[in-house]
Amino acid sequence: MEIIRVENLKHIYKTAAGEKIALDDVNLKISAGEFISIIGTNGSGKSTLAKHFNALLQPSSGKVFVENLDTADEKNLWEIRSKVGMVFQNPDNEIVAAIVEDDVAFGLENLGIEPSEIRRRVDLALDTVNMTDYKKFAPSKLSGGQKQRIAIAGAIAMQTKIIVFDEPTAMLDPQGRHEVLSTIKKLHENGLTIILITHFMEEAAQAEKIFIMDGGKIIKQGTPQEIFSDVKEIKKIGLDVPAPVELADRLRKKGLKLPKNILTAEDLSNALAK
Ligand code: ADP
Ligand code: MG
Repeated sequence: MEIIRVENLKHIYKTAAGEKIALDDVNLKISAGEFISIIGTNGSGKSTLAKHFNALLQPSSGKVFVENLDTADEKNLWEIRSKVGMVFQNPDNEIVAAIVEDDVAFGLENLGIEPSEIRRRVDLALDTVNMTDYKKFAPSKLSGGQKQRIAIAGAIAMQTKIIVFDEPTAMLDPQGRHEVLSTIKKLHENGLTIILITHFMEEAAQAEKIFIMDGGKIIKQGTPQEIFSDVKEIKKIGLDVPAPVELADRLRKKGLKLPKNILTAEDLSNALAK
């Protein structure tokens, strides 16, 4: 079942310097429960597209629908935002309270939800991101990965069906990146629709489907295997392929017979040690 539909979306930023076309005739469909990733070089339009998914921006032309609700229709705003959560790059900008559990509860309190229901949802959200032990902590005492998981817990507690992650691991160390990606995968397994914008190709490779953006357009979409099958083409766009894909590609060029669909370190080691 389709959950998001983008039709001929154009976004123009008007600035003192003139007009900037950030999105140019974007079309895409996302199904409920899907885990998709959006990749593309800096300035290709990823964040602008992300902000259309929960009506933070309005189309200059074209349409965006979330469960058939038109994001351009003001009376749909509240309902759309209750369906689509956002997690951004810098958790420090998202954390508002001085205690972890208050921070996770913040959005719910603003909605006027009953205290007992807030308690239940906060506990569940903290459990989902594996941060229950830290609920009385000050967020300032947490690592980047832990802070980002608190921000994610805030989105989970809102019970949105879709969470859009805009480079959620960009500021984290490898451990933090791993924690956040495991959390994202768990949310997908729990049935949420996941949109992950990332410049880490290993992260994108975990999605079911990848969209490549370039110059405000979606220039390619497919499974990770399909997307990373042509290493030369990906590099021409200015992107990388996951390290195991690159290594497999080089080994093939040296005459080694390897299967076509190598994506992860596990795939590669399995193929080599067979
Ligand atoms: P990405 O997230 O892929 O790096 P963005 O969506 O942030 O790309 O930006 C797409 C283009 O729109 C870039 O050229 C960027 O400079 C421009 N842009 C982004 N935000 C604004 C803004 N608020 N005002 C003017 N131009 C913007
Ligand atoms: Mg961006």
